[in-house]
Amino acid sequence: MLTKVIMGDRCILENRKLLCGAGRTAAIISGKNSAQKSGALDDIKMVLDDCGISCVVIPETKTNPDLDNIRQMSDKAKAADADMIIGVGGGSPMDAAKAVAMLCTNDIDPRVLFADVKKADPLPIYAVPTTAGTGSEVTPYSVLTIPETGNKQSFSDDRVFPRIAFLDPHYTYTMDKDVTLDTAIDAFSHAFEGYISKRASRTSDILAIESMRIILSRFQRLGDFLMDPAVRKDLLYASMLAGIVISQTGTTLLHGLGYALTCNRGISHGRANGMLFPAYLKALYESKRQKLDMLAIRIGLEEFDMLPDMIGQLFPDKLKLSSEELRSFVEYSISHKSIGYTPADFDREKIQKIFESVRINEDTTAF
Ligand code: NAP
Ligand code: FE
Repeated sequence: MLTKVIMGDRCILENRKLLCGAGRTAAIISGKNSAQKSGALDDIKMVLDDCGISCVVIPETKTNPDLDNIRQMSDKAKAADADMIIGVGGGSPMDAAKAVAMLCTNDIDPRVLFADVKKADPLPIYAVPTTAGTGSEVTPYSVLTIPETGNKQSFSDDRVFPRIAFLDPHYTYTMDKDVTLDTAIDAFSHAFEGYISKRASRTSDILAIESMRIILSRFQRLGDFLMDPAVRKDLLYASMLAGIVISQTGTTLLHGLGYALTCNRGISHGRANGMLFPAYLKALYESKRQKLDMLAIRIGLEEFDMLPDMIGQLFPDKLKLSSEELRSFVEYSISHKSIGYTPADFDREKIQKIFESVRINEDTTAF
């Protein structure tokens, strides 16, 4: 794992020497409000100022950033002659920062980011998460939306592992209940999917178990939204561990399923995973009983069945889905690459059942 992780209260201010000398001009890639609201932006600006590094703030990342959004921001970073990129926010700005860093040194159409062609080294990237979910601060992935189709596609490149990730739990305090829950289940799904992945290793399992154990112990408090500093800190730590896990294993079909709801119905990434999670767990249990029973013991559950029940209570949302939508979601997810790392066979019928678990009725009216 190529990222140096610094975690703790006020960790940017206390480790300013790590940024001093990193560049002349930093482009700060963020969303519209959260970088400011969380307090992260002020801390970063103060440290850059102390280090004599000038900065341009580009607070334009959309949620689920698309390629047009990326192109506009990289044009601005280039115009400012940035020689370092700081991604501040949730997964959207951190992923956007990775793409912008690549486009600043490569005169290419953003679509070429996904192509297997030789590219120059990106600008150095620094990451400051303000959500506790994606783990993007410690992954080589950038998940982007293709504007023409609305579908998500990701690129992976070891050179976009952030050089340093600064994890200050304070920056996550301003998340409301929905963003907190949605991002926490995303982190849990990374750890779970990494654990069951065909690419899991003994080392990734250690981190996956630790991450799931921590998040699970906080589920009740998540449901009641009792977010004291210790809970916030635990979630940020666990999401970072889960990020390290998927940087080794990738995700599995649950992410492919969730993308169908996010791209077509605008449901947030984490919530989409959370809604489909219980039915995914039940389907997996049919063929992976022993492994999942063992997992339950390792993360402190009396029996595996408790897990889908707990997640189902946190994400009771249901959707109206037309038969046409159902068909297209099944086709989308069955061809998603994450199915290749999934340890059980999922045919169209099985996948359809998972989508049906979040369906209210066959009404054709949109959600
Ligand atoms: P996000 O899209 O980055 O942010 C969701 C919302 O939360 C935005 O409105 C954002 O506001 C707000 N927000 C962020 N931090 C906040 C804070 N501290 N206080 C209040 N509001 C805050 O959400 P995310 O779930 O973290 O990221 C999702 C994206 O990451 C998706 O595109 C997903 O595909 C991707 N992802 C990437 C990886 C990876 O390995 N690279 C893994 C999983 C998911 P602003 O708009 O103002 O910032
Ligand atoms: Fe995810």
